[in-house]
Amino acid sequence: MYQGLKDLRERNWAPFPVDPGSIDAVVLTHAHLDHSGYLPALVRDGFAGPILATAQTAALAAIVMADSGHLQEEDAQYANSKGFSKHHPARPLYTEEDALGAAESFRHVPFDTPTAASGDVTVTLRPAGHILGSSTATLQVDGPVASTLFASGDLGRSNHPILRPPSPPPSADVMLVESTYGDRVHEPVAEAEERLAALISRTAARGGTVLIPSFAVDRTEVILLALRRLLSQGRIPALPVYADSPMALEVLKVYRRAMASGDPEIRPESISGGDPFDSGSLHELRTQEQSRELNSVDYPSIIISASGMATGGRVLHHLQRCLPDQRCAVVLAGYQAQGTRGRLLADGARSIKLLGRYVPVHAEVAVVDAFSPHADSNEMVSWLRGAPRAPGTAFVVHGEPHAGRALAERLDIELGWHAVVPVPAERVRVS
Ligand SMILES: [Zn+2]
Repeated sequence: MYQGLKDLRERNWAPFPVDPGSIDAVVLTHAHLDHSGYLPALVRDGFAGPILATAQTAALAAIVMADSGHLQEEDAQYANSKGFSKHHPARPLYTEEDALGAAESFRHVPFDTPTAASGDVTVTLRPAGHILGSSTATLQVDGPVASTLFASGDLGRSNHPILRPPSPPPSADVMLVESTYGDRVHEPVAEAEERLAALISRTAARGGTVLIPSFAVDRTEVILLALRRLLSQGRIPALPVYADSPMALEVLKVYRRAMASGDPEIRPESISGGDPFDSGSLHELRTQEQSRELNSVDYPSIIISASGMATGGRVLHHLQRCLPDQRCAVVLAGYQAQGTRGRLLADGARSIKLLGRYVPVHAEVAVVDAFSPHADSNEMVSWLRGAPRAPGTAFVVHGEPHAGRALAERLDIELGWHAVVPVPAERVRVS
């Protein structure tokens, strides 16, 4: 599902490039909304095959898709009641009920186990170290000309605090490689933590709130772990931490379960005694009333709320309160797509539009994307270097055009690969 720029979002409404009913199976690498978010529409529009994914991806995708359907229904209703939609009436791309339908189509595929996908196609999912359940996908196509197609999905990093590092890429004829950070290198985590600790301390000293718009899946977990560590090292003051996103709290349960059960994806050293995510002052806010009550909090605190790029969700009303207040700080803790409020803030906007009105930006705004679960350009190249052979073609996908081109150029120059940036919905022969 496309997010961000309107031109991109409009593609969600265009007819799917192939008849959904003609698709035999879908392989889902991980639960993030940009990967799983279109499935409810695909199933509603006639896709009747299995969605192949790991068990943790299935559990997380069910939460993500249901939340997405719910939000879209709510947004459409709100737009209709306020009359600010250009569409009359505004309608959701799909509903929560469509999302429940898609969740029923999942079939669990264990890691590292070749599994029949459909006809001559066998799929193998290997850990990608990106979020819980995330995988790369290798499709072995047996036919007159056997070929292997490999998709990186979103590639994680070897230093994820909870997950084991990604498995190396296999030998493949064709590769699809993501390029979210294809032209960038992350700040070292230790430096980012130092900046975050300093920001939290000075915001607390001036009596403000630290607001962290956060992706509900994985980022909330990684941030809570970091806060717990910073507190235990005495690097930040003890502040109440409010996790204000029902979806993030559902996801937190899945992570807690995986950690408690010693899931093989989890780093053994990340499992300590007690709740790994609670530094002693974690408040889990489930209801709208609890969320609204935060508006009257007038002591230093940390609020983590979705959505991560401030495109919707409860974080909007926290931004409405915090942005005009120079005591507060807003921490953008991950990738901010073009066309989102998060990107505008990251680029230094002095005013942004929220819930129908413009709000001045007086709060301190910081970008701390070292907590990103995406490999950066260097990490991607060195991981791909581990492939047993160069693919016939590497298609660089899932990035803004300049990021895709930058990564393709590095694969060409540094690895000697034939790397191409395709255009969306382009058709090519792979064997
Ligand atoms: Zn992802």
